[in-house]
Amino acid sequence: MKIRDIFENKRPVLSFEVFPPKREAGFESVRKTVQELSKLPVDYMSVTYGAGGSTSKTTVEVAEEIQKSGVPALAHLTCISSTKNEVQTQVEKLKECGVENILALRGDYPNIEGFVPPNEYRYASELIEDIKKTGDFCVGAACYPECHPDCDNLANDIEHLKIKQDCGADFLVTQMFFDNEAFYNFRNKAVQKGVTIPITTGIMPLTNAGQIEKMCILSGGASMPAKFTRMIGKYQDSPEALKQAGIAYAVDQIIDLLSNDVRGVHIYTMNKPDVAEKIVGVINYLF
Ligand SMILES: Cc1cc2nc3c(=O)[nH]c(=O)nc-3n(C[C@H](O)[C@H](O)[C@H](O)COP(=O)(O)OP(=O)(O)OC[C@H]3O[C@@H](n4cnc5c(N)ncnc54)[C@H](O)[C@@H]3O)c2cc1C
Repeated sequence: MKIRDIFENKRPVLSFEVFPPKREAGFESVRKTVQELSKLPVDYMSVTYGAGGSTSKTTVEVAEEIQKSGVPALAHLTCISSTKNEVQTQVEKLKECGVENILALRGDYPNIEGFVPPNEYRYASELIEDIKKTGDFCVGAACYPECHPDCDNLANDIEHLKIKQDCGADFLVTQMFFDNEAFYNFRNKAVQKGVTIPITTGIMPLTNAGQIEKMCILSGGASMPAKFTRMIGKYQDSPEALKQAGIAYAVDQIIDLLSNDVRGVHIYTMNKPDVAEKIVGVINYLF
């Protein structure tokens, strides 16, 4: 099923993100994660793509597992360190597995000494165009409520976002954010610039202290409201309390987003089905 049809027929849409195993041996655990998550009332599930194509094989395998669980899969795909041929091969593999949705991303250069980029893609918009030409896929793209770190300001970043829509992107998934006001400001500006495709909001529940640094890196410096940093300060030495508070913060954020008519919520599950289950358990009537 194509995700654009889900957005057309359902409001709000609930989705989860998982990541593929770092080593082949971890596949069974990811398979179980997918199975557990698929029991929840989720509309689609996405699977990430390792920098430089490091997970190209396992991303396809996990996407196939998601499809088998009866949930539509969204396979991430990056282009900056790939040739057009490599991208085409990955797209064909996804098609063979019945995957109909791709999140088209630029990606970042892998941190490998001596890596020489092929320079065949510069921006995600070029990848979106190539995938759309095949005519087989619904294509999503990334957006950044607090501006992408490489861009000098939000207005320019939104101009570039509009190019992604013009190249055929069907929907957008936001970078994680912890301050809903930042998202509302971004949404207003994007709409003013003619962005009309659905924007689903990325929520990362904080569940352990070790995740804090990773969150800061992954989020590209998303601002942390005082309420959020106070919570971390208060509970970071008490794992169970921090997990509970982190889940409650995510629930609070989601209720506010849904009250403000967001088109969807995308939970970065960090491959922890129990966390997604707890969140959905208290707000399932909201979807
Ligand atoms: C929801 C989500 C999922 C992600 N999943 C993955 C993943 O699975 N694997 C992974 O490696 N990374 C992933 N990322 C990270 C992503 O690859 C990086 O943030 C990357 O730096 C930018 O990718 P993009 O697709 O947004 O790039 P682009 O849309 O190409 O934008 C990158 C930069 O270029 C600028 N730009 C775009 N077009 C133009 C133009 N025409 N002229 C001038 N400047 C322009 C933009 O303003 C921005 O600063 C994800 C990010 C998000 C938000």
